Amino acid sequence: MTHTYELHGRVALVTGAQRGIGAEVARSLAQAGAEVVIGHLIEPERAEQLVKEIQLAGGSAYALQFDVTDSKQVLDAFEALVKRSTKLDILVNNAGIRVDNLALRMSDADWRKALNVNLDGAFYCCRTALALMRRTGGSIVNISSVAAYTGSVGQVNYAAAKAGLVGMSKSLALEYAGKNIRVNCVVPGLIDTEMTEGLKPSFREQFVSQIPLKRFGAPEEIAAAVLFLASDAAGYITGQALHVNGGGYSA
Ligand code: NDP
Repeated sequence: MTHTYELHGRVALVTGAQRGIGAEVARSLAQAGAEVVIGHLIEPERAEQLVKEIQLAGGSAYALQFDVTDSKQVLDAFEALVKRSTKLDILVNNAGIRVDNLALRMSDADWRKALNVNLDGAFYCCRTALALMRRTGGSIVNISSVAAYTGSVGQVNYAAAKAGLVGMSKSLALEYAGKNIRVNCVVPGLIDTEMTEGLKPSFREQFVSQIPLKRFGAPEEIAAAVLFLASDAAGYITGQALHVNGGGYSA
């Protein structure tokens, strides 16, 4: 049996794809041959720049602007996607934010905001994608975080949302295995992106000292795990959480 990362003929939507991990995921899915839809919230110029880059490299991509926290915008965006691409084979729920504070100082709004983007948004996208994929099968990859497993000081909202993603993915995997839809999580440790660039050097050093591979990960290293789970090479894998963290946490 030959397993392949070949994605020609597949259509993939990546949310939060215009920068960071999402942009690398988009690049790697496009390199494998998928038509990639760059989901983004703001800065259309940046999304269009990535589309051009992928096209110049011989790939196929276009951008769709929508807010994952608004289920109506999600529906409209997926409708536009189907109009243009006729189907959806791969969904990567990557959009995420941090709204950090210690629990006693965390406002209702900051609690809700993190849950809203990281968990509600992923659910709206999954629900809409499943309605399309149930006819064809497909693969959904949700980007969780090591904070879901270890906890994280100042991130009670983020850790709760990312743990919720794991439970949601396992449940969806059970509900839709019969329709040949696989649902998995990639669980990154600390990765060099705009999300982590504001870390104080002393905190960064402290984190690095606890990582056996002694460095933060690169977005490409998360993209490689997503590509694997999205592809037929992972055809017998569903309901799983793949940890990519330099050895910093073992499940
Ligand atoms: P970035 O902050 O660089 O990128 C986040 C992306 O999410 C942006 O493209 C942003 O869009 C998008 N986004 C935010 N809110 C919304 C929304 N309401 N609707 C649509 N898109 C939205 O983050 P990373 O690349 O670092 O992280 C990517 C994912 O990986 C996140 O889910 C994050 O939680 C997770 N992760 C990251 C880790 C790290 O160390 N970097 C570690 C563990 C997990 P826009 O650019 O338009 O604002």
